[in-house]
Amino acid sequence: MTKGNPMIYLFSDAGRPALRNFLDDSTLFAFDLDGTLAPIVADPARIVIPKEIWEQLIYLNRIAPVAIITGRARADAQKHLGFKPRFLLGNHGAEGLPGREKQEEEFCRYCREWLDQLEELIPRASESGIVVEDKGKTISLHYRCASDRDAAVERIIEVIGKLNPVPRRVPGKYVENIVPNDAPHKGEALLQIMGHTGCSKALFVGDDATDEDVFGLEDDHVLGVRVGCETSSLADYCLADQKEIAGLLSSIICLYDRSLQDKTESLFL
Ligand SMILES: [Mg+2]
Repeated sequence: MTKGNPMIYLFSDAGRPALRNFLDDSTLFAFDLDGTLAPIVADPARIVIPKEIWEQLIYLNRIAPVAIITGRARADAQKHLGFKPRFLLGNHGAEGLPGREKQEEEFCRYCREWLDQLEELIPRASESGIVVEDKGKTISLHYRCASDRDAAVERIIEVIGKLNPVPRRVPGKYVENIVPNDAPHKGEALLQIMGHTGCSKALFVGDDATDEDVFGLEDDHVLGVRVGCETSSLADYCLADQKEIAGLLSSIICLYDRSLQDKTESLFL
């Protein structure tokens, strides 16, 4: 599909067959966490994956390779997941890739340097509603609670521009993320896991600006589904809202089970 075309609603006459034709037993299933598996809430510490979604996800993880790729630190994401997915990548893909431990230590060093600099550059961040979150391998500067969000984000962008070494700035919903320049983004991380598992295809579901790094991959073997059809995105398909994730998981499980069954039957023909 050509990137930049309007997204197609996944549960439409055009979307359903596309999903059916894409999925088979060589597919990796990858999901973002906040806003995708769990609805966004005012306090990010209180997100909860709805029971129906959680149970289906656990089942899918049992029968197929599942990866969670989130902006949260892995340990934090693990607390909210309550089960161990086959792959759990944190910090937008910068944490948890197999064999990248040495590089991750370097990311931690960068972050410690940036945190020291941030203390000097925005000494009373909380007074302007800016929350500095140390996530180990990346840093998030939240401004959801700022009384003047425009002023807060302007200040944050200015401050990030002064950091040394120069980081990659990754904008999200009311948050600006500070990411080491050579850290893999979500799209690169997904391709790495596909290589690692031997899965030739991946279905990825996400809702945020950081998920565009996956949606923008020029790769027909990756099918991107965005939660929310109302905004522009490089994703091929979309869901109306987060509540439709339960229906998507049911469809995936049904199609995947059928694909395994067909394969088993063909062995006996
Ligand atoms: Mg999200």
